[in-house]
Amino acid sequence: MGHCIFRAETRLNRRATLTSAWTARIISLYPELFPGPLGASVTGRALEEGIWSLETTQLRDFAHDRHGSVDAAPAGGGPGMVLRADVVGAAIEHVRTSADTDIPAIYLSPRGEPFTQELAREFSQGAGAILLCGRFEGVDERVIEQHRLREISIGDYVMTGGELAAMVLIDSVVRLLPGVVGDERSLGEESFQAGLLEYPQYTKPRSWEGLEIPEVLLSGDHGRIADWRLAQSKEITAKRRPDLMARKKDKE
Ligand code: SAM
Repeated sequence: MGHCIFRAETRLNRRATLTSAWTARIISLYPELFPGPLGASVTGRALEEGIWSLETTQLRDFAHDRHGSVDAAPAGGGPGMVLRADVVGAAIEHVRTSADTDIPAIYLSPRGEPFTQELAREFSQGAGAILLCGRFEGVDERVIEQHRLREISIGDYVMTGGELAAMVLIDSVVRLLPGVVGDERSLGEESFQAGLLEYPQYTKPRSWEGLEIPEVLLSGDHGRIADWRLAQSKEITAKRRPDLMARKKDKE
């Protein structure tokens, strides 16, 4: 079967695979797109170190008619093609049985529940996820029901396939895994963490094109700095995302 495992053979990584790395199990017609951008920078290093791992499964390998077809015209008519229940179902079954732990099975879909930082945190606490990437008009509804797939959307727009959506999900989960981000304090301070957007950031030079760094940030007074940042976060969130502000108030 077209089942591919990405793990760089490093000493660190052999150690990490003995414990269990968070594993993304991708089902896709285009497995060669992975790891793509996930192979660079912070997520790429974490992949090399075995903090997470990636297994891809070629959906086409589960076609069983003589034409190798994975899709068919929608029942009831209409434009486009739909991924077949028998093909997708067999692929999910295969990946489920090869995973040694019970992990959520996700179908990336514009109809799904919106992906949020809260969900990224939830998934980062598990052992990994099966990620089914749709194509064409999507997947036969019966597979979603039968395998209790959790439908997740990365935003209110339609892309051509689920691969980029899967990468978005994986990236935001992986950076929450212990040991991935150098200074883990930064995870506690960024947007969405306390239900607010992040305050403005500044760095050198102190004066740039006539614009100055706010005086309070140069004061060395950590109490004043923290108060200023919180006030800025609240102001920006109220202005840009009143929905987040309202949700935060409901929770308080
Ligand atoms: N006909 C579908 C609809 O209207 O909901 C759209 C299918 S889309 C062209 C093909 C595939 O791209 C979907 O099956 C899904 O896997 C993926 N996709 C597209 N937009 C997405 C989004 N916003 N979030 C997650 N996945 C998405």
